[in-house]
Amino acid sequence: MRVQVSDAAVHETLHRVFGFRSFRPNQHEVVRALLEGRDVMAVMPTGGGKSLCYQLPAVLLEGTCLVVSPLIALMKDQVDGARQNGIRAAFLNSTQPPEERQAVVRDLMAGRLDLLYVAPERFAVDSFRSMLSGVRISMAVIDEAHCISEWGHDFRPDYLSLSALVELAGAAPVAAFTATATERVQEDTLRRLALRDPFLVRASFDRPNLTYEVLFKEGADRQILSLLKRHRGKAGIIYRASRKSVGDTARMLQGKGIRALPYHAGLEDQERERNQDAFIRDEAEVIVATVAFGMGIDKSNIRFVIHADLPRSIENYYQETGRAGRDGEPAHCTLLYSQGDIAKVRFFIDAMPEGEERARALSALSKMAAFAASAVCRRRALLGHFGEAYPKENCASCDVCNGSYSALDCSVEAQILLSAIVRTDERFGATHVIDIVTGSSNKKILELGHDRIKTYGAGKGREKKFWRQLVDELQVRGVIVKSEGLYPVLMLTEKAVAVLRAEAKVEMAVRREAPKGARRKSSPAEGACDRELFEQLRLLRLEIAREQGLAPYMVFSDRTLRDMSLQRPRTEEEMLGVSGVGEAKLERYGRRFLQLMERWCAEHPEGEAAAC
Ligand code: ADP
Ligand code: MG
Ligand code: ZN
Repeated sequence: MRVQVSDAAVHETLHRVFGFRSFRPNQHEVVRALLEGRDVMAVMPTGGGKSLCYQLPAVLLEGTCLVVSPLIALMKDQVDGARQNGIRAAFLNSTQPPEERQAVVRDLMAGRLDLLYVAPERFAVDSFRSMLSGVRISMAVIDEAHCISEWGHDFRPDYLSLSALVELAGAAPVAAFTATATERVQEDTLRRLALRDPFLVRASFDRPNLTYEVLFKEGADRQILSLLKRHRGKAGIIYRASRKSVGDTARMLQGKGIRALPYHAGLEDQERERNQDAFIRDEAEVIVATVAFGMGIDKSNIRFVIHADLPRSIENYYQETGRAGRDGEPAHCTLLYSQGDIAKVRFFIDAMPEGEERARALSALSKMAAFAASAVCRRRALLGHFGEAYPKENCASCDVCNGSYSALDCSVEAQILLSAIVRTDERFGATHVIDIVTGSSNKKILELGHDRIKTYGAGKGREKKFWRQLVDELQVRGVIVKSEGLYPVLMLTEKAVAVLRAEAKVEMAVRREAPKGARRKSSPAEGACDRELFEQLRLLRLEIAREQGLAPYMVFSDRTLRDMSLQRPRTEEEMLGVSGVGEAKLERYGRRFLQLMERWCAEHPEGEAAAC
């Protein structure tokens, strides 16, 4: 018999336990379906709030909700997070000492758990399964459900044992959650789990709080430093393509006094874990990493992601940028791109054995490069890649829509460049050709007599950066090609003829330089809070997190702190009105935060939110 749960009770629980006033898209529907006993398969983006979809019904329903989760580290974080909200949660996995495991089993058998997180391999163990028959199960949840599909990138053989979960759950509903957008993985997952007439949700993959930007890469170190200045003190990830560049960049940043740590598969397990932990706990603000980093990171206050090298696919790019801004607060994603990066990735792909996989990798790379080189709204391009049509004309939060680009007719410049290539017999690389057109008088130019050719210095009026970008552009358009090998030279294709004869126009999207002295406009969300108070709240959060051995984002999210600095609650009652403050957190931390704000307001009698 299923108890009827009213919508009022659902909303009351949303507020009392989680501290939220409203649901994110699709959460309410999923919660309702589960309360009605229906199986669910939900594909929602990272940060979409999947945990709440099952944690809320778990609190309301009689019995224990079993959650299968692939990563042990993630399991502990989820349990810590749920407990912070006063939910009776625990986990069972092989890392626990036997006494601890026994204590969890006792709680489980006695019906004292709302949520039990379990590692998938447990389900292959007979004794575990027979033990479950003595437990009242409210529902069974499979998080990161795409791990069951061999088509996914995180296939986990032990997830296959989960296909029997439906039988095990009996009358209780089974829900599968994933953020993997590929239709193929989605269908495969559904089929393998054999869900019973499931309620299907496929959310939009748009992440409205993320701003996307692609910068022409010219000196990654300097560009990274300047981006970090923009994001000073905030948490972020810098992705790099190789272990070596991860190490180099991390050292470079440390040398500048930035708390940056490396992460890649070549580090000792212990060091890797230590670095990841320091990042999660806000002890290091920046993690410099290869693609190895990210799975199993629920840190919600990542404010920026920088790709200093070209990702291998749009899927990778989407997933990696998606780790920013889970809390819904504004976050920035910057990709540094130049055509030269393609060759670096090609190097790895070319080393793969000939076949389907290599062809797929090549096609993924060329789509990624096209994304980076285009001047189409980034959001529209990303969503389009996943088969979703973005409805708005202008997304207002990508470099293209923000008007950073304008189309520039570069036909004449292209002729100058092509002519320099022809006159030097297609025997030189981009650097030298650019030295010719910009009129450099370096040794090589003088020795070769290239200061006497007709186009020498004809492009003096523009910076080298412009010319490098034009070389990229002409390559993308197939007007020139780069030879293979250690010292690639530029060569013309048949398309160059029309450009040289002024029969074909060359237009390039160029970034408009921000006028000197113009400050970056902060978004209303960023600007509306008092930064100084916010910083103090952050410090208190860090202090509490250390005392409790928790990650700061588990105490309160950035959004909660911002809301607090805006509302400046003075009573417990008012405190409950802050997003993310439920009863359990109010009781635990309310007093200390209220005291801080009282002190702060006394020291700032001018009171009303000073703009930052
Ligand atoms: P996912 O697993 O889908 O990536 P999470 O469950 O980790 O996302 O949730 C991401 C963040 O969103 C968490 O900080 C969570 O507290 C927050 N969140 C979830 N639901 C809501 C909501 N209805 N309102 C505000 N914040 C929410
Ligand atoms: Mg999740
Ligand atoms: Zn846009």
